[in-house]
Amino acid sequence: MTDLLARAEQDPASLTRTDLVRLLSVADGAPFAALEAAARRVREAHTGKAVYLRGLIEMGNRCAKDCRYCGLRRSNRALHRYTIPEADCLRMARWARDHGYGSIVLQSGELESEENTARIERILRALRAEDGEQLGITLSLGEQTPEVYRRWREAGADRYLLRIETSDPRLYAALHPADHSFTRRLDCLRALRTLGYQVGTGVMIGLPGQTLEQLADDLLFFRREEIDMIGMGPWLPHRAAPLGQGTELTPTFCARQLGLGLRMIAAARLLLPTCNIAAATALQALQDDGRERGLRAGANVVMPNITDRLYRADYQLYENKPCIGEDPLKCRGCLEARIRLAGCTVAWHTPGTPKHYQEAQ
Ligand code: SAH
Ligand code: SF4
Repeated sequence: MTDLLARAEQDPASLTRTDLVRLLSVADGAPFAALEAAARRVREAHTGKAVYLRGLIEMGNRCAKDCRYCGLRRSNRALHRYTIPEADCLRMARWARDHGYGSIVLQSGELESEENTARIERILRALRAEDGEQLGITLSLGEQTPEVYRRWREAGADRYLLRIETSDPRLYAALHPADHSFTRRLDCLRALRTLGYQVGTGVMIGLPGQTLEQLADDLLFFRREEIDMIGMGPWLPHRAAPLGQGTELTPTFCARQLGLGLRMIAAARLLLPTCNIAAATALQALQDDGRERGLRAGANVVMPNITDRLYRADYQLYENKPCIGEDPLKCRGCLEARIRLAGCTVAWHTPGTPKHYQEAQ
């Protein structure tokens, strides 16, 4: 393991699928600590100790899709559906900007309609009219046509997050109903890159039946597709979603999901030193300090939820979602302290463009 880590630090391009599987299966204790330490050294060499903040606005939970793992799926008829009015989205985005967040993420269920496209366009134009391109604006609004992505890019969005969920088309098919398409999702990622977005993707980790080989392939997929930002997190069950029905958040389950999530972050950092890697909120659902653990494993981005509290209970992709009752101001204070405890500093007022993207320009 010592040899493998030394090689990974010196020559990440040499890492093979077998090497990655070895990294993902390191034992707890000293071997895991050595993996994390190597990932931290690589992060510090390439992106420093700074952690970038993305203020997450959960704009709406209406969704036309029926992903088998997600609490927002259209079949979940018990869910109260909401769309945050434009003026309130703008207010939350301004709040983020005025409180030193260098970027925001606008996320919602997937809706393909002219009404939705035009609404997002108006929000983007209003924000850009005020901020002179200072704020990083990321969209996470699912699959759309290249034309819609183009319109949003022209209106001012500069980043897009679209998780591939798994790079294995067979596993993808098992996670989604037949009218969802792996090929379309991949085509969307490629269209986003062509349009000049900073492109983010990711996967769910620890899915029922998922192997370490599949996870290693996910990491190699990020490299092959020249991804700039990685946002991946442990899979968590949801009672209104069919996948993994009956799975309980037992201490054993949580420890396994967290351990695997952290190993994926560390391995991703070693393989892709210049990418931005997020410490996903799902880590915090497994353990109170899960996000800080993600930073210790090599992540350099956190996405605090800045959505008005009123809406949060209705945006549960998975259960046990943290901070549902927290208000953004309180989140901000506790966040800075938590990030410092993880040995990092907060990069306030910085969009935090990934080095991977800058180098490709
Ligand atoms: N509708 C958009 C954005 C919102 S969903 C989209 O699908 O791209 C954002 C992410 O939440 C998804 O990509 C998925 O990876 C994650 N997610 C959904 N259900 C989850 C679950 N049960 N456990 C962990 N992550 C989940
Ligand atoms: Fe909709 Fe995204 Fe959930 Fe799929 S993962 S059901 S697209 S919100």
